[in-house]
Amino acid sequence: MTAPASTPILYETPAPHVARVVLNRPETRNAQDTAFLYAFNDALDRAAQDDDIKVIIVAANGPHFSSGHDLRESDGHGAMRRHRTVETWSGFGKPGAEAQFAREKEIYIGFCERWRNIPKPTIAAVHGKAIAGGLMLMWPCDIIIAADDAQFLDQTVAMGVGGAEFFMHPWELGVRKAKEFLFTADWLDAAEAHRLGMVNHVVPRAELEAFTLAMAERIAKKPLFALKLVKEAVNAAQDAQGRRSAMQTSFALHHLAHAHNMIAHGKLVDPSGLMGPMATKANAAKTAAE
Ligand code: ZN
Repeated sequence: MTAPASTPILYETPAPHVARVVLNRPETRNAQDTAFLYAFNDALDRAAQDDDIKVIIVAANGPHFSSGHDLRESDGHGAMRRHRTVETWSGFGKPGAEAQFAREKEIYIGFCERWRNIPKPTIAAVHGKAIAGGLMLMWPCDIIIAADDAQFLDQTVAMGVGGAEFFMHPWELGVRKAKEFLFTADWLDAAEAHRLGMVNHVVPRAELEAFTLAMAERIAKKPLFALKLVKEAVNAAQDAQGRRSAMQTSFALHHLAHAHNMIAHGKLVDPSGLMGPMATKANAAKTAAE
């Protein structure tokens, strides 16, 4: 059955004990507006709270995994008030930096943290492009399977901001490659992402769904409580390296950049770096060819 295009997130159960949450705004290349992110969060909560589900797959419909945050959303702060927040942030209509700080605490860094800590294995199946906020739908997952056509980009420096909000770059890529990735705002392809350890496997595009499901079914044969415990142990090892406190710093610097851009340009980002949702100046020629 084909779901209506207005359903931004699909929830499927493709095998026993396996849930699949599918990004379904292909007409926008799965751009993330407020409603999309709450729907995604609700779907993950549903899978997390269903004791029959042991493994959660995150996949995408359309040519690309996600083009990132939907910069065309006209009233993101107003939209916040149409949802029941999952954290305790408020002040979404406040002036100055307050509303944006609250919004990003809730739906960007807050959501990503809680998705990372879902006490069940999560697997992202990524194809096409994943840009900036797009990375924030895959990096919180435990395992990432990339199609051979997958490409990754964080062009936020070109837009006057120092990296996407969920600042996992140093842990995902290593310190040197994280700097190169951010400084140049160049694409990272699936093979290089695999070499760096950012993705677990690269498979032909046509095999992505079956490969991911087979792995999910293999994991789903294990006892769920042991899966929960070992996930928490690995996450704790990463947090013992200072991940959380480092991310508090990067998030504060991210908001310094937003505040700076509001003063300098009247926008959260430097408009000279905005070349459309799938392109930066550096990558415009490459993207225009597609
Ligand atoms: Zn931001």
